[in-house]
Amino acid sequence: MAFDWFWKTMGTFPTKNQKKSKAVVAQAGADRFREASDAELREAATSAVVKQDLDEYGQGRVGRVVDDSKLLGAMREGARRTLYLSPFDVQMQGTLRLLAGDVVEMATGEGKTLAGAMAAVGYALQGKRVHVVTVNSYLAARDDAWMGPMFDFFGLSHGAISEDLNSDERRDIYARDVVFSAINELGFDVLRDQLITKREDQVRSEADVAIIDEADSVMVDEALVPLVLAGSEPGAAPMGQITELVKSMKEQEHFLISEDHRNVFLTDAGASYAERKLGIESLYAGGDANENADTTDAEDQDSAVSAEPTGAELLVQINVALHAEHLLQRDVHYIVREDKVLLIDGSRGRVADLQRWPDGLQSAVEAKEGLQVTEGGRILDQITIQALLGMYHEVCGMTGTALAAGDQLRQFYGLNVSVIEPNVPTQRFDEADHVYASAEERDEAVIAHILDIQGSGQPQLVGTQDVAESEHIAHALERVGVECSVLNAKNHEAEAAVIAEAGRPGRVTVSTQMAGRGTDIKLGGADESERDEVVEAGGLHVVGVGRFRSQRLDNQLRGRAGRQGDPGSSVYFVSIEDDVVSVGGAGEELQAQPDEDGLLKLKKVLNFVDHCQRVTEGQMLDIHATTWKYNKLIKDQRDIINGRRDKLLDTPTAWDDLSYHNVDKANALKAEGISEEVLEQAARDIMLFHLDHEWSEHLAYLDDVRESIHLRAIARESPIDEFHRMSIAAFGDLAERAVAKARQTFDEVTITSEGAQLGDIGLHKPSATWTYMVNDNPLSSGGGSVIGSIAQMFR
Ligand code: ADP
Repeated sequence: MAFDWFWKTMGTFPTKNQKKSKAVVAQAGADRFREASDAELREAATSAVVKQDLDEYGQGRVGRVVDDSKLLGAMREGARRTLYLSPFDVQMQGTLRLLAGDVVEMATGEGKTLAGAMAAVGYALQGKRVHVVTVNSYLAARDDAWMGPMFDFFGLSHGAISEDLNSDERRDIYARDVVFSAINELGFDVLRDQLITKREDQVRSEADVAIIDEADSVMVDEALVPLVLAGSEPGAAPMGQITELVKSMKEQEHFLISEDHRNVFLTDAGASYAERKLGIESLYAGGDANENADTTDAEDQDSAVSAEPTGAELLVQINVALHAEHLLQRDVHYIVREDKVLLIDGSRGRVADLQRWPDGLQSAVEAKEGLQVTEGGRILDQITIQALLGMYHEVCGMTGTALAAGDQLRQFYGLNVSVIEPNVPTQRFDEADHVYASAEERDEAVIAHILDIQGSGQPQLVGTQDVAESEHIAHALERVGVECSVLNAKNHEAEAAVIAEAGRPGRVTVSTQMAGRGTDIKLGGADESERDEVVEAGGLHVVGVGRFRSQRLDNQLRGRAGRQGDPGSSVYFVSIEDDVVSVGGAGEELQAQPDEDGLLKLKKVLNFVDHCQRVTEGQMLDIHATTWKYNKLIKDQRDIINGRRDKLLDTPTAWDDLSYHNVDKANALKAEGISEEVLEQAARDIMLFHLDHEWSEHLAYLDDVRESIHLRAIARESPIDEFHRMSIAAFGDLAERAVAKARQTFDEVTITSEGAQLGDIGLHKPSATWTYMVNDNPLSSGGGSVIGSIAQMFR
C-alpha cells in the first residue's frame, strides 16, 4: 500500500530471554500452590533459594535462586492470598528478569509495582537487603503499605523512608529486609552518614540490591545530578554590579553564543569593556587555579576567601551572569513564583522542588530577575546518583521506556534491557510525523488538527516542549473557540483534577512533559462513566508539538494513549525550526519543497528528523560519558576519604596519633582523670573535624578548577586531563594537611570530661545542614548549564 510508510504501529522487540522466561513462568503454573497451606507456601519459597548471610569476600551476600519456577509459583499464590491480586504471566516474567539483574520494560498500567515487589521478595529471601527506589516519597509510602502484606506473609520486614522521619526512625527502617525510598532520601542519608563522629550515629545499614522504578529516568536522565549536603556558613559573593554590566553587553561584539546554545564566550572586546566598566586592570590576573594547586600553606587558601574578588573570580562571575542572562530562559528552564526562582526539570516538565543550580548560577538568575539573592551555604559533601547506585552490588529496575535507553544502561551500568510484552496487546496507532517548514506553520496545523479531531469526540492530550509553548498553544486554541485545560509546572496543584477529567469525550488538555509519565488518564473520566462513548470515538489521541530530545521521551508521551489494550492514537507535528532538528542537523542541507501550508511531505524529510534526533541523543550520550569521567575522579577520592573516616571512627587511631604527637598533654589529661573513652572520642572529633573540613575545601577548590578550566579550555587540548592533573595534585596532601591541623588543634584545645571544646577556639561545625539537588545535568536542562557547558568543552 502506498501509505504503508505513513502508518506505523508501535511494536515491542523480542529478546533472547523472552522464550526462556515464558517457559519458566509456564512451569510456575497458574495454581500450582493453590492447595498448599500458608506454611507449605513459605517453605516452598524458602527452599527455592539459597540464603547466605555471610559476606566473606566483601562482595555482598551471595545467595541465589535455585528453582525459579517454584519461587515464582509460591510468590504468585502469596500475592493472591495477601494482596488479592493474581500476578499476570507478564508480571512474573518481569519479576524473573529483575531477579536476573535486568532493566525490564513494561508499559504503563501493566503492574510494575507488583512485579518489582515480587522481585524484592525473591532477593530478600536470599538474605540480601533490598532498596526499592521509587520516584518520590509519597510512592515509597504507598507501595510499602500496598505490598506490605506480601512481605509480612513471607516473613520479611519492610518499611518506607520519608522526609519527616528522624534519625532514630530512619535507622530502624534501614535495618529492615526491604526498604522503600525515593532516591534523594537515600543519597542524603549517605551524605549525612559521612559526617558522623560516632559509629552509633550512623543511620544506614548496608544494602545489597537496588530495584529502581522509572529506571531510565533515575539512571540516565538524573544520573549525574549531584545530591548536596550544605552547611550554614556565609557563602557566595554578591553579584549586583556584574548583572548590570552583563545586561549592557552586546552579542557578537562582547560575547558569542555557540550554535547549540550551550555555551557563551566573552570576546576580547567584551573583556576590555568589562575591565573598563569595573575599573580593574585585567580579568585574567590573579587567582589562577594552577597556582593554588601548588600552595601548601593552608593559610593562603583560607584568606583568599574573604579578600576582594580577583580578576579571575570576576571573570567567573561574568561568565555565570552571561549564562544566566542568555542561556537560561524564564518559562523554559525556570519559572518565577512568589519571588523565587523555581527550576523546571527538563525531563519531567515539572518544578524540580529540591533542585538548585550550582550556587553562583542560582544567584545570577535571581539577580537577573531582580529578586533577592539567596545565601549560598558551604558545600560539605556531594554525591551523584550514579555514584550512589555504584554502592549496590546488584542493580535492576523497571520502566515504560527502557529500550531506547539501552545504550546508556549498558555503557554506564552494564545492564541489559528485557522487554516484556503487554498483558493485552496494544491497539494504539502512531501516525507518521507531520513536518513543516516553520514553527509558525506547524502551530497553525496543530490548531487545525485539534479542531478537526474534536468533532469526533476523542479526548486529546497535546504535549508541548515547555511552559511558554503550552501557554502559546492554549491561547491559540482559545482564539478559535476550543476550551482546554492546561497542565504545566505553573499549575501542578491542579494536576489530579485535570488528569481526572482529561479522558472525557471531546476534552482537550494541553500539557508539558509532566503528563509524560506516571499519569494515568482513564477513558471517560476518572469514574470511567463515559468510557463506552470514548472507546467508540477511538480512545485518547495524543498530539505532540515538536519532537523531544530523545525518542524515549516521545514514546513516554505517546504511551498515555492506548493503555492496557485501550484504543488510542498519536501523532507528532514537527518543524524544521525545532531545536532538535536545527541543532541535530546543524550544517546539513535538506532539499525539499513545502506545499502552500508549509507541509513537507517527503519520506526523506521524516528520515531527516529521525536522524537529527539521533544526533542529539548521541551528543547527550557523549556529554554524559565525559561528565561521568569527571565525576568518577571525585568519587574515587571520596572513597579514599571514606576509608580514612572508617578507620578513625572504628579504631583509636586518632588518639594514638595525637597522644604520640604531644605526649605531655596526653599524660596531663590522663592525670586529670579523664576517661580513656572520652579522650579517644575527643581525638576522633578533632581529626574528623579537620578531615571533613579539608574535604569540603577540596570540593570548593575543584569547583573553581572546573570553572577556570572552562574559561581557558578553548586554548587547551584536553581539559579533562588538565582537570585530573590539578585535582590529583590538590588531593595528594589533603590527609596530611588534615592531620597537621588536627595536631595543632590538639595542642590548643581544652579537653574536659565533656570532650574537646572545639567551639572555644572557633572551630564550629555548621550549625545547621540542609540538602538539595543541583540541577547541573546537561541531559535534563536542554539549554545547558555551567557544568553542561564544561562537559561540552571536554568533548
Ligand atoms: P504501572 O506502575 O506499571 O503503571 P501499577 O503498578 O501502578 O502499574 O498498577 C496499575 C494498576 O493495575 C493498579 O491499579 C493495580 O492494582 C492493577 N494491577 C496490577 N497487577 C494486577 C493484577 N495481577 N491483577 C489485577 N490488577 C492488577
